[in-house]
Amino acid sequence: MPHILIVEDEAAIADTLVFALEADGNATTWLSLGGPALELLRQQPVDLVILDVGLPDTSGFELCKALRRFSEVPVLFLTARNAEIDRVVGLEIGADDYVVKPFSPREVAARVRAILKRTAPRDPAPASVAGPFQVDGERVRIHYHGQPLGLTRHEFRLLQALLAQPERVFSREQLLDALGVAADAGYERNIDSHIKSLRAKLRQVAPAAEPIQTHRGLGYSYAPDNA
Ligand code: CA
Repeated sequence: MPHILIVEDEAAIADTLVFALEADGNATTWLSLGGPALELLRQQPVDLVILDVGLPDTSGFELCKALRRFSEVPVLFLTARNAEIDRVVGLEIGADDYVVKPFSPREVAARVRAILKRTAPRDPAPASVAGPFQVDGERVRIHYHGQPLGLTRHEFRLLQALLAQPERVFSREQLLDALGVAADAGYERNIDSHIKSLRAKLRQVAPAAEPIQTHRGLGYSYAPDNA
């Protein structure tokens, strides 16, 4: 059952959305402030966020920008004014769709259905688990301690390769193979910079852990004991 987070400060609007979305087979959570919504999204990934542009503590735009730093969850904006629509459409804030108030809750439910269909994997395969990591190859996503990592394609492939064989020391050349990149001297240094940015992203989730180990002169490995 898809889980939809509704961030809307007007209770009457939120109520009609909860009703329409649950009648349509979704589970919902309703929050009226942006701050707690962002906190929840950091802790627990949802399938879609419905986001009011005008919130008491922040704007939906700011919230979406903050959200995009760690999540690619689909976002549907609720906008009140034409000026807001221009910003939703014009700015690259990563919105998937928007509806203008007043709207019919059934229309919103239909939009939600369409977005979920568009973003769902074609052939859903269960995510594989390696310690605190969950690798979702279909969606090219990895969760670490329950949090989605915003990885580039190269970082995803590197981490996926390391996680697939815990404790194995991969040479830079072997990791280049995992990326599908031809091995040469320049690219081998690229691996180091990908590993560096990957480690920074892992550290944001678990500052004390060191799941990727460096083996001087040899390469890198995934150490489950340090994850
Ligand atoms: Ca509002």
